[in-house]
Amino acid sequence: MPSARLELPGCTLIEDAPLVARNTLRVAARSAWLAEVHDAAALPDLLARPALRALPLLTLGDGSNVLFTADWPGLIVQLRDAGIAQLGEGDGRVHVRVGAGASWDAWVRWTLARDLAGLENLILIPGTVGAAPIQNIGAYGVEVATFIEQVEAWDHRVGAWVELSAAACGFGYRDSCFKRDPERWIIRAVRFALPRQAPLCLDYAGIREELAAMGVADPRAVHVAEAVLRLRTRKLPDPAQIGNAGSFFKNPEVDATQAAALRVRCPNLPQWSVPGGRIKLAAAWLIEQAGCKGLRRGDAGMSDRHALVLVNHGQASGAELWALAQHVRARVRDAFGVDLEPEPRVLP
Ligand SMILES: Cc1cc2nc3c(=O)[nH]c(=O)nc-3n(C[C@H](O)[C@H](O)[C@H](O)COP(=O)(O)OP(=O)(O)OC[C@H]3O[C@@H](n4cnc5c(N)ncnc54)[C@H](O)[C@@H]3O)c2cc1C
Repeated sequence: MPSARLELPGCTLIEDAPLVARNTLRVAARSAWLAEVHDAAALPDLLARPALRALPLLTLGDGSNVLFTADWPGLIVQLRDAGIAQLGEGDGRVHVRVGAGASWDAWVRWTLARDLAGLENLILIPGTVGAAPIQNIGAYGVEVATFIEQVEAWDHRVGAWVELSAAACGFGYRDSCFKRDPERWIIRAVRFALPRQAPLCLDYAGIREELAAMGVADPRAVHVAEAVLRLRTRKLPDPAQIGNAGSFFKNPEVDATQAAALRVRCPNLPQWSVPGGRIKLAAAWLIEQAGCKGLRRGDAGMSDRHALVLVNHGQASGAELWALAQHVRARVRDAFGVDLEPEPRVLP
């Protein structure tokens, strides 16, 4: 039966909405209600509607970092404002406000076209600008938090629009205050401060080698973006070809004692120090050595190209994908005594 649609001021409300095209793992879940919000000003009235206000609330971008293990029993909100507005320039930095619904990759390309620096290593990350602060997206040695000045959000607990400074966002490795309290916040826009010139971050995962292969000796931000684009295209499965949510597990952190014991047992296990004296381990290495790279159960699998990526070969349900992820976690725990944590949000 087709879903019922209701046109309201500033938004379209859909009952019993299919989600298969709204998450990159291509899970065929449904949501009791889904609101496509074209004007964020409509949000307070929408959330106050008697049929909706007591329901569980989920804000969704492009669904590239979520796993629906079952149907969503409440309301999903998707913000569609994709406006980019230059606010001014000062201190050698350009200040720009970007609507939550803008494509992250399109925004990075917007900055490159205007010779703004900073986001070049983050090109081709799927998803929306509104979701970028949630897990403080990062790639090739750069995190978005470095360039965020302010986040505009609806505080659902208080029932008010607020502006959070970068310090108030509590950013960490794939973490923020938004991620720790997900039902509280709906981000409507992010304000960035981007330098005209910034040191390039080249010492990560083959960027220098790729630039050399491109014949670029004196790189600028656009060259770095092109190098990252080539590296990502080769390494990561494209969600348009096969359902996935990028890296499914975070790189785990352990204390120095456990890291030293693992170093003796597994001299090839990549380890690196992080602030606070803890040691980060390469989750991909652990998964591969536990024999889970390319593992498949029905249509649920781990990629054979990239050990960290959970893939949907076709019709896998969210529950089947989650069961496989749990199995991989157990195999890594049994083999190395290390607990892997999922990076995407596992729902409901
Ligand atoms: C192939 C692939 C490669 C990837 N590579 C990387 C990578 O290199 N680095 C990286 O960090 N991530 C990566 N990811 C993960 C993903 O792209 C990012 O996490 C991205 O920011 C998710 O955006 P989204 O719009 O799809 O968010 P969604 O998946 O829709 O949502 C993710 C989380 O953000 C919340 N959320 C979304 N929008 C809002 C909003 N407006 N307000 C409040 N909460 C919101 C959701 O509730 C959910 O908790 C990759 C994913 C894929 C599929």
